[in-house]
Order: sequence, then C-alpha cells, then structure tokens
Amino acid sequence: MSQMKHGNHCQEDRDFSCNYFLLQVTGSSSHITNEMPDFYKKCVLAFQDYLKITYKMPECYGDIVNQYIWHNHNICFNGKSLDFRHWARVGLLKVQDIVHQGKICELKIRGKLKKVSNLFFEMSILKKAFPEDWFKLLNSHEKPNFVNARLTNECEEQNIHHLLLRKPQNIYVELLKSRVTVSKSKMYWCNKFQENFEWETIFLSNFANRLLPRKIQDFNWKIFYGAIPVENRLHVMRKSDGICKLCLTDIENVEHLMVSCPALKNVWQKVQELLKVAVPDVNIITYKEIVMGYCHHGKEYDIVNMLIFICKWQIWLRRNFMVFESDLKGIDWLWNSYKTILKGQISTVLRSRFMGKRKSRDLRVLLDKLHLQLESETPISV
Ligand SMILES: [Zn+2]
Repeated sequence: MSQMKHGNHCQEDRDFSCNYFLLQVTGSSSHITNEMPDFYKKCVLAFQDYLKITYKMPECYGDIVNQYIWHNHNICFNGKSLDFRHWARVGLLKVQDIVHQGKICELKIRGKLKKVSNLFFEMSILKKAFPEDWFKLLNSHEKPNFVNARLTNECEEQNIHHLLLRKPQNIYVELLKSRVTVSKSKMYWCNKFQENFEWETIFLSNFANRLLPRKIQDFNWKIFYGAIPVENRLHVMRKSDGICKLCLTDIENVEHLMVSCPALKNVWQKVQELLKVAVPDVNIITYKEIVMGYCHHGKEYDIVNMLIFICKWQIWLRRNFMVFESDLKGIDWLWNSYKTILKGQISTVLRSRFMGKRKSRDLRVLLDKLHLQLESETPISV
C-alpha cells in the first residue's frame, strides 16, 4: 500500500485531478485501467471493499455534500457507480459541487462544463442514481458554515493516511465483524444448543483471540460454518462411507470427531484439569464450549479458550494422520503433542508485543503458571 501511495497512479489522479482518488472511493473497477500492474489493481480493489464496510451511510447534510459523486457505491445507476470524467476534470467532484438549495442544480453544472451535448442524458442518469433519502436530508437541513476547501482536503488526506496506517490485524477483525453470518449456521447452532447467542462476542473469542495462531482461528471459523470435511460430509459427496476411521464404529460428524469418538478416551477431562490452573472454578467442557468457547467471562477465559481450541486442532491433526497416511496415533501421542504445541504457543505469546503491556500483566502471570505446570508434568511414554 505504501508503494502505491507514492506511485503515479494514485497520488494525483489524471482524470479526477484529486489526490489519492482511488483510495477514497468505494466502487471503482472501471476506472482501474490495464496500465496498472495486476497486484496494485487487486490491492486497490481490496482497499475499496474495505472502505465500503468502514464508511457509514451518510446521515446528515455535511456527510452528503462531502461525498464523491464518482465511483461511489452509494450512487449507482443500474447497479454501477457513475464515472463522468469530463465533469470531474472541470471540478465537479463532490455532491456540494452540483447541488443548490437541496436540489441537483443544472445551471451550476452547465456553467462549469466545457461540453454540454450529453447533458440531458447525463442529468437524468445522475438524478436516478442519486439516493432518494439524500434529497430529503439535503432539503430538511440548515446549511452549515463551509470550512474552506484547503482545510477539508487536508483532513481527507489525513483520513486516508490514518486508514493506510491501520494494522492488518485490526483490518482483519473489522472484516470479520462485518461479515454477514450465514443465518443457516447461526440457526443451526442456536437449535443445537437451545440458546440465543451473542454472535459478536462469540466471533471475537473464536476468530480473533490473540492467544491463538491464525490457522486455529481459521479452523474455528470452518467448524462454525460447517466447512470441515468430516467423513459424514464426504459421504454426501460420495467420497467416503461416512464411518469414523479412528474407531470404525460410528458415523463421523463434527460432534463425534470432537467429543463422542471412543478413540478420544478422556482427553477433554485432562484438558479440564489443566485449565483449572488458569481458572479453578471453570465449568465442565461440553460440546458447546468446544465449538463456541467460553464467551461471557473475564480475560482469563481467553486462556481457557486457547487450551480448548488448541486441543480441538490437535484432534483434527490426529484424525488426518489416520485418514491420509493410515498412521494411527495413540491417545498418548495426542496428549504429548498437544502439550508441546501448547508450550510453544505460550512461549510465543509471552514474547509477543501486546504481552509487554501493563494491562496484560494478569494474563502473563497465568500463562507463566500454566507453562510451569506443563513443564512439571512428565511426558507419557508413547
Ligand atoms: Zn470415532
């Protein structure tokens, strides 16, 4: 992104004579030309998608008049954003450049344009594309004092810089939050556990727990959306007989894989004992906690969730050893490798930057305790 910032394509846009134009609009695929290298093209498009979710729908007079008219996903005709470049070149860029007394003002536009032969046609497209509600808001509002143009531009540029400086993790979290959940998955889990869940909390503890490696967060995500290729699912695709390859007795669905398979023995009880080190009075782990984690509790439950989710991942790995390499790993292997992964992850977390912060002190103490506990347990011989 920083490369792009200084590249010729974005800084001063040729057609829209405006700095960082492509990084300020939310609906520009047609304007991104073939001259632009593929990678930058994708970056710009991804950035515009990101803007779409961070930009609120304008709610007041000031918001509306400051909107760009071109390549704005809110101003669409037949599903496409508008792109009248010869308007932009003469300075008709924002809503404030074309409205007067709450209406799109033809006189104001005509006065600026060099070529008016298409004006009738263009005006009718513009009027149809312009959202109805905006007219209402424009009419109902007292006009504010306009800040001088230079100042507005400076603010905008700062906004863009601010957005560009955001950390990738923060962008990831916002994208996750904005994701409209497939209601089928939500309904499935509500019915399954007979509970109305608070989805945002669950998504944060499952998919954005900073104590977990990204691959495990993604695995949680897949379980939530039913995207794990368990035998039962493969059976529907006629690629498996549906039977669990570890116990060879039952159909393998996610619940069987994670909790009810006899090959798991008492692994969850052992996890339960271990997590008592962090939270002594924690409830018994059930299938619900294995899928959703513990959500409505304190920070120390991030650790509890870490213990659960890493074990979940390890169970999946063990299953894959069997399915893909016909390598049957015993329960001791599962437990020892779980502890090894856990120790590694705790060390990584303890070294990470956010752990250095003061507010993470309690977490650090608990993690140290847990690490000691893991060190003191003698590994079971396999
Ligand atoms: Zn089984």
